[in-house]
Amino acid sequence: MSKSIQAIRGMHDLLPDETGHWQHLEYIIRDVLRSYGYREIRPPIVEKTELFKRTIGEVTDIVEKEMYTFEDRNGDSLSLRPEGTAGGVRAGVEHGLLYNQIQRFWYMGPMFRHERPQKGRYRQFHQLGVEAFGMPGPDVDAELILMTQRLWRRLGITGLKLQINSLGSAEARHRYRDELVRYMDAHSGALDEDSRRRLQSNPLRILDSKIPMMQPIIQSAPKLVDYLDEESIQHFAELLNLLDVAGISYEVNPCLVRGLDYYGRTVFEWVTDKLGAQGTVCAGGRYDGLVEQLGGKATPAVGFALGIERLLALLAEDTLLPSADRPDCYMVLVGEGVAANGLVLAERLRDAVSDLNLVVDCSGGGFKAQLKKADKSGARLALILGEDEIQAKTIGIKYLRENRDQETLTHDVLAQRLKTMVAASTH
Ligand code: ATP
Ligand code: MG
Repeated sequence: MSKSIQAIRGMHDLLPDETGHWQHLEYIIRDVLRSYGYREIRPPIVEKTELFKRTIGEVTDIVEKEMYTFEDRNGDSLSLRPEGTAGGVRAGVEHGLLYNQIQRFWYMGPMFRHERPQKGRYRQFHQLGVEAFGMPGPDVDAELILMTQRLWRRLGITGLKLQINSLGSAEARHRYRDELVRYMDAHSGALDEDSRRRLQSNPLRILDSKIPMMQPIIQSAPKLVDYLDEESIQHFAELLNLLDVAGISYEVNPCLVRGLDYYGRTVFEWVTDKLGAQGTVCAGGRYDGLVEQLGGKATPAVGFALGIERLLALLAEDTLLPSADRPDCYMVLVGEGVAANGLVLAERLRDAVSDLNLVVDCSGGGFKAQLKKADKSGARLALILGEDEIQAKTIGIKYLRENRDQETLTHDVLAQRLKTMVAASTH
């Protein structure tokens, strides 16, 4: 026998037992976003590699070593999207949706990064991304944070903490970078290999290191807040005031930077200590320079990306996921030639009872085997249809989860019963 082919490491199949959880989460996400006037966009999963180099930055982990890049048959360099902001902005500029306009977008779907797979870190993972364009003030930053907070509330999540910081203007970051490099150079003996590399390429990213031995050095490093420009200080103060007024608690974390180059001013993360090292569930911030960098007219923008797998892991941890969707009833067909009657009756029941989940046994097995399948399906009722029932225009009901006698009902009475049952179980 030849060896079976397996999925790619770090890329997972979602099986029927899990998809219900995803749908539950996706439904609530859509509902919350709609209630703030955000609308969905669906850019392609593959873009020109150049797009990611220009937006995310050449010297970021993503572009340096995590992208799935390939040549297509025309010899063009393409990449699977590692994140969604670049494609969203590209689409907005290309279709003239951004200049002088207010837009509130979201997208949801798979992203690809060649990282070391571990809990909460995969090579294909899913993000919800939200982007708001055309609004420079801190009020829309606050709106995004309020919206995520509402999402946590709708899902029943409590333990997430908000960390927030300001990265200031590009000039402020440059001034700070020089100071940081001087400090890190003086401690270069104590830096790990990654940090030493970043010292050359992208020194602010050293602050993002998760390595324990780096923490004391990071903690006593010069702080970006001390280098912020006046306007950014004002913007940040107003944002914190808005959060205070809205009753949102936060922690200002002066070491919080983002892994992508395009952020400035506001950055924030929602973190949990329940998921081990991969504790950031949602991360975002302002990127006022990006639209122009991509050839559009200067347009202020702010957004966030939320890791769906991490959010689901958190929901599972707190047992907040809905139980699996089971059939309401399972139709057992007894004898030769009843299949047509069974299928037609099942159609009529689905017409009559909205939200009905009815499985018809098409296995062709015997009565006992079919009843076993009915039981295993988790259905509450078995509907039994044989020659006698067809003659009498009735159907048998066997209660699979209750200690209750079998009954024979007319089709109309059955439909009525199912209506009541489904209505009771969906409320
Ligand atoms: P991390 O520091 O964990 O690598 P990041 O800074 O690379 O995160 P972003 O690019 O800001 O992450 O992506 C936003 C969110 O997407 C993260 O906060 C996380 O929830 C999720 N995410 C990022 N990379 C992965 C991955 N490889 N697997 C699963 N989820 C991920
Ligand atoms: Mg990363």
